[in-house]
Amino acid sequence: MGCSDAFTHKECIMSNPAESQARRRFLKIAAAGAVAAPFAAVVLPKIGRAAELPHLDPNEPTAKALAYTHDATTAKGNPAFKPGADCANCTFFQGKAGDEWGPCMLFPGKSVHAKGWCASHNFKPASG
Ligand code: SF4
Repeated sequence: MGCSDAFTHKECIMSNPAESQARRRFLKIAAAGAVAAPFAAVVLPKIGRAAELPHLDPNEPTAKALAYTHDATTAKGNPAFKPGADCANCTFFQGKAGDEWGPCMLFPGKSVHAKGWCASHNFKPASG
């Protein structure tokens, strides 16, 4: 319910607890937003950065089983290796173009080298 014209704005708010509470809630939310926005701008991009994930250790059992290497040129002797294959052009690589390291769907929580390779390599479909 609003105030009549006979009240000034201040008197209206003070005499109307619901409006007063709503105003306080708004001010709290506005203050929280003012604090959260710079925090989000600084912290969130870092959390989302795949390069921050620990690098996959080629000696981990799964990595070893799939003959993972940080350098695809060393995988040429592997019968599963196809010329030109590396993590950057693999369907399982989730890094962006140009990223040196990126997540791989086969190794959750780790990042693989864009020039790396493993026996599960699968070429991304050609775009366009
Ligand atoms: S599955 Fe693909 S992206 Fe993942 S390690 Fe093997 S080659 Fe690299």
